[in-house]
Amino acid sequence: MTYHGLYSRYRKFLDIPAYSQEITLLEGNTPLIPMPRLAHQMGGGFDLWVKFEGMNPTGSFKDRGMTIAIGEALGRGARAVICASTGNTAASAAAYAARAGLRAIVLIPQGKVAAGKLAGAAAYGAQVIQIDGSFDDALAMVVQITQRHPIALVNSLNPYRLEGQKTAAFEICDALGSAPDWLCLPVGNAGNITAYWMGFRQYDQIHKTGLPHLLGVQAAGAAPLVIGRPVEHPETLATAIRIGRPARGEQALQAAEESSGRMIAVSDDEILAMQRALAQEGVWVEPASAAGLAGLAAEIRAGRLNVRGKRVAAVCTGHGLKDPEIITRAFPAPRLLPAKLDALEELLLSE
Ligand SMILES: *Cc1c(COP(=O)(O)O)cnc(C)c1O
Repeated sequence: MTYHGLYSRYRKFLDIPAYSQEITLLEGNTPLIPMPRLAHQMGGGFDLWVKFEGMNPTGSFKDRGMTIAIGEALGRGARAVICASTGNTAASAAAYAARAGLRAIVLIPQGKVAAGKLAGAAAYGAQVIQIDGSFDDALAMVVQITQRHPIALVNSLNPYRLEGQKTAAFEICDALGSAPDWLCLPVGNAGNITAYWMGFRQYDQIHKTGLPHLLGVQAAGAAPLVIGRPVEHPETLATAIRIGRPARGEQALQAAEESSGRMIAVSDDEILAMQRALAQEGVWVEPASAAGLAGLAAEIRAGRLNVRGKRVAAVCTGHGLKDPEIITRAFPAPRLLPAKLDALEELLLSE
């Protein structure tokens, strides 16, 4: 069966207006990759899959939300869309706005956006504006500007973003035949965990697919939902989740609780170690994307999570290509050799 995008595949499960337009780049339908070796490294005895959302058209799960949010904005007669972004939302909004023929404006926190994301937003033709402040400052600004001007807000405060993003839960259930026992994922502005919970609940009502426990994972330096209050100056190398005041924080906590799951934090070192472990399985993700699995590993190691005999799915939210510097910075420049075979042989034999 030819794939026409998630609007087409899941239209009947989406709570969107009849005037919504189909604006698609064939997002969704991402691979659910078995990770037996990684599960073994974490102690074994359970099944582990990675939902690799980096395989979406602009390299992150944001495309699932954007296809629906931009299609709604276009159908409503909007001429321009705006978002605050740590990077991936910007690139995604820019691409889908371009596809829809809409103007895109994106606000990013100064100097804290990974190169591949900034380049994406620019390449797709968005007007990119840096704010001398945090993501949270930028979000407050775009919310206010959309109250005063006819510009559509496409951050995950926009309910249609969640309508699109919940389809990832449908896909996991479709692939496994039912919901996994645990779902682990990174949490930043908390729209995605909220959307997954919506999706799992809806599919369970229709198809009796069951419900997972949710393990939401924040970065230790940006963990408002773990410490129970906003973080004024969030800090983490995982820039996609460098958020101190999550817009959907209440709903995320509720989802974690309703699912008998939990919200935890991991250090940047744990995140980078998991990024490396995933790359050794051939899956290169950006740092934030490794947080969910880093949290799973930490919980198992600490004896707080017994996954024996269970099925665990982890969402890897964005592609490693988005943030190449985090890797290249840590490696010396590649060795330079004369273009001579004996030089190559000598080097290879010496190592
Ligand atoms: C947006 C994003 C997140 C966080 O998702 P929220 O819905 O803001 O919680 C995590 N990882 C990546 C790669 C992202 O782009």
